Amino acid sequence: TQRPDSLDAYWMPFTANRQYKGAPRMLVRAEGMHYEDVDGRAILDGTAGLWCCNAGHARRRIVDAIAEQAATLDYSPAFQMGSPPAFALAQRLAALAPAGLNHVFFTSSGSEAVDSAMKIVLAHHRLRGEGQRTRFISREKAYHGVGFGGMALGGLPNNRRQFGLQLGGVDYLRHTLDLSRNAFSKGLPRQGAELADDLERLIALHDPSTIAAVFVEPIAGSAGVILPAPGYLQRLREICDQHGILLVFDEVITGFGRVGMAFAAQRFGVTPDLLTFAKGASNGAVPLGGVLVGDSVHASFMQGPPQAIELFHGYTYSGHPLACAAALATLDIYAEERLFERAIELGEYWQERLHALQGLPNVIDIRNFGLVGAVELAPRKDAPGSRGYEVFRRCFHDGRLLVRCTGDIIALSPPLIVDKAQIDQITGTLGEMIRATA
Ligand code: PMP
Repeated sequence: TQRPDSLDAYWMPFTANRQYKGAPRMLVRAEGMHYEDVDGRAILDGTAGLWCCNAGHARRRIVDAIAEQAATLDYSPAFQMGSPPAFALAQRLAALAPAGLNHVFFTSSGSEAVDSAMKIVLAHHRLRGEGQRTRFISREKAYHGVGFGGMALGGLPNNRRQFGLQLGGVDYLRHTLDLSRNAFSKGLPRQGAELADDLERLIALHDPSTIAAVFVEPIAGSAGVILPAPGYLQRLREICDQHGILLVFDEVITGFGRVGMAFAAQRFGVTPDLLTFAKGASNGAVPLGGVLVGDSVHASFMQGPPQAIELFHGYTYSGHPLACAAALATLDIYAEERLFERAIELGEYWQERLHALQGLPNVIDIRNFGLVGAVELAPRKDAPGSRGYEVFRRCFHDGRLLVRCTGDIIALSPPLIVDKAQIDQITGTLGEMIRATA
């Protein structure tokens, strides 16, 4: 494979690509814990692709499942029809999910899952005669994808502002960063649940009966791996219950073993009314996402809509047979290799190695949980974000390590098949590059 001089011919210059003037980065192969780039270098994957390849790359079982499904039933219409892999997957997901989240709506991505969840929430309230509930609450720095719904919920203003037109009726809790202001915290930061009381105050600014749902990422991923303070999610749950507001966990990143259980909801002991997932569901091998909903939401749809309300929502690729077959094979691997448990077993070593980076130049915080982690660097006064990007660039261009930088925060989420020697490599290389960047 040749490296082209430029990808401009087909690359739209969104996001960081715009700033990137060098020869295009090209990955040409992947296997297990490694990518291979166009120059033949094996690059250790410190981010499971984009938080999705939790079982490592190019798993034969998933490849075979996709090929076999493609040869058997490549596609079946998503409306008024099903397919065996979609039904089987729905059953498997209901068994894995927090108790009570027994029903699933399939999408092809996290963004579609979030938009779908918003529409399901609105329809649920209308079906129950509470159509005045149309407002949403999310958090500053949240990332909920790039659909019009998820974009409006997203609390990163830069992801919205270039487009102008927005869905209205969204308020943001402003305390996300306070959850993590806890330099060198090990495990969960020790902050009280009173932060969640901000939700009470925000609700009080409106008529609470106009609020449809609160969306949160149990661990805010794109904001830089921000952990929930103990008691925080529990308190959000209580407040939502008091006011008849639905609680939605966006588990697109935290789902499928990243935090040591199938979902963060289980690890933190709080069950939402709806849960969105994607990424790890199909190990990144084919696009798949979805929304899990509880009995009460399901029941309002099953009662049948009153005549005045017609229900319509769905995608051509909802429950796509290839995606569902890939997800079934993925779940088999997760179970047989006990990969969710592995995120807990290795969690202590992960924490120890990551926190050994404390004291390196410009490192101002280190966070970890399960097999997710973040190393936060002090921003350069004149160029915030440049230090994080430089570390990412050095790791990659040395042909060593793929990390993710979100501003000056280096985010890590290795495939759950990572071993201790590879953890040493990830943290060792990262440390080296942080030193070189100082
Ligand atoms: N929600 C969360 C929490 C995410 O992290 C992401 C993607 N990083 C999304 C939604 C959007 O998913 P997708 O890119 O598959 O549309």
